[in-house]
Amino acid sequence: MLQGKSMIGGASSAGSGAEFWGVDPASGELLETAYRSATAEDVHRAAELAEEAFAVYGRGTGRERGRLLRAIAAEIEAIAEPLRQRAHRETALPMARLQGETARTVNQLKMFAEVAEEGSWAMARIDRAQPERKPTPRADLRSVLRPLGAVAVFGASNFPLAFSVAGGDTASALAAGNTVIVKAHPAHPGTSEMVGQAIAAAVRKCGLPAGVFALLFDAGTEVGAALVEHPLVKAVGFTGSLKGGRALMALAAARPEPIPCFMEMGSANPLFVLPEALSARGEAIAKGLFGSFTMGVGQFCTKPGLVYVPRNAEGDALAARLVELVKDAAAAPMLTERIAKSFCAGVAERKANGAVELLAEGGATDASGAYAAAALFEVNGATLLSEPELAHELFGPGTLLVRYEDQDELMALARALEGQLTASVHGSDADLAEWGELLAVLERKAGRLIVNGFPTGVEVCHAMVHGGPYPATSDGRTTSVGSQAIYRFARPVCYQDAPQAALPEELKDANPMGILRMVDGAFTREAL
Ligand code: NAP
Repeated sequence: MLQGKSMIGGASSAGSGAEFWGVDPASGELLETAYRSATAEDVHRAAELAEEAFAVYGRGTGRERGRLLRAIAAEIEAIAEPLRQRAHRETALPMARLQGETARTVNQLKMFAEVAEEGSWAMARIDRAQPERKPTPRADLRSVLRPLGAVAVFGASNFPLAFSVAGGDTASALAAGNTVIVKAHPAHPGTSEMVGQAIAAAVRKCGLPAGVFALLFDAGTEVGAALVEHPLVKAVGFTGSLKGGRALMALAAARPEPIPCFMEMGSANPLFVLPEALSARGEAIAKGLFGSFTMGVGQFCTKPGLVYVPRNAEGDALAARLVELVKDAAAAPMLTERIAKSFCAGVAERKANGAVELLAEGGATDASGAYAAAALFEVNGATLLSEPELAHELFGPGTLLVRYEDQDELMALARALEGQLTASVHGSDADLAEWGELLAVLERKAGRLIVNGFPTGVEVCHAMVHGGPYPATSDGRTTSVGSQAIYRFARPVCYQDAPQAALPEELKDANPMGILRMVDGAFTREAL
């Protein structure tokens, strides 16, 4: 049963202000249950309870954290079907996609449970005392990663489950021992509330303090801003637009105590097509590329939005094939009317630019304001170099072909790129040998390099890097997908000459968790 209320300390809070609803983007229909924004008092209470709960949860063991994450996964599995139904109504994402996303969300929680339970992630290091060392004895020094405190989480509209209330930010923050306050995305309030109830039930069943988790609704941006500014909030995990991410980063930096922000923002995901691969596989590249930039109505942060194609006959053939595919594509509803309007405004801007050619547009846009049609544009390499704003992300089913003259121009274009989540190269072995410098340049630009593939589809695993230099993220040293995401919400603490009883489990001589530790410079699972 949806309540339409924020959840703080395991109870609902009525909120205040104007009502808002989830909206079916396919029909424009308002969905049942009105929501109200949380109040300033709600934000304060959620932060205080999160801090109180941290004193218990943050000192718990990896097994306890794993138990909570598994309990959340089980609660979500128990409501999977109604959850998908609600998410489908609120986002117009197909049921099959939401089925995959539910599985991904549950598996992600279980993966972080395993990471927390196994425990080696915490990078325990022990340098034993050397009392006899001359000229000065060495103290006993032991360090381990510890959680930060209350983490504020902002999810994106395009992954209502996997990057939302129980998504990767929440799962990784809880796995590291933090408490979490989620600001629900207003594009899927019902889905957010259902998942929030599942987490609150899991917290209850595990006998943990209710302040471990809170969910706050907001029709505007005040609640999110107040959360980031609250002195008891110690870090931010955000997935969304560059504009939103920058606004929250500015607030975090202006606090009397600035806090770390991990903002996963937009990306244009450049894809380079090299000559020999194009000759050999032009048709497959055209089809794969079309599928990748129109998948999910282009609403992926990994959508390839810049495609570098040689200015030759085979490049012309690739463009012509893409024109055929785009012309046949039907318009489809985007996540919200606002997102569709923003995409259409971006398309209109490109159409108005005399240096950019519209090659093709998809089927006519439906009456409902949230529908959008695919769009294919082309530009010269030289134009992109002089108008770099054309390389910014256009969120939706559009892409820009960039026609390059030769290797020198392509390398100049690659060097001019901003930070990206991904960069893809289609090249034969001979291409890759001849254009080897390209991968070296792209390594400095992106978090993930894809060879002869397409960037959409992000595996949740241990080696995944879903990050990249600014503006793809606020901190290119991290990832928001995969088990390494846990490192965002922990910091090293060193104990000097502390007695055994005072040490965290990871640092005790007996190594009760059996974790991999560095002892006097060598890795071992042995007890001391
Ligand atoms: P968004 O509009 O930035 O919203 C994200 C969240 O931030 C929402 O809860 C939003 O609340 C809040 N927010 C935005 N501006 C704010 C401000 N000034 N103050 C306080 N809160 C603010 O993003 P979106 O439209 O949902 O998502 C689409 C974007 O996310 C695309 O650019 C896409 O590429 C990116 N994305 C990135 C990744 C990644 O992993 N890097 C993954 C998925 C999506 P309100 O809506 O109430 O403002």
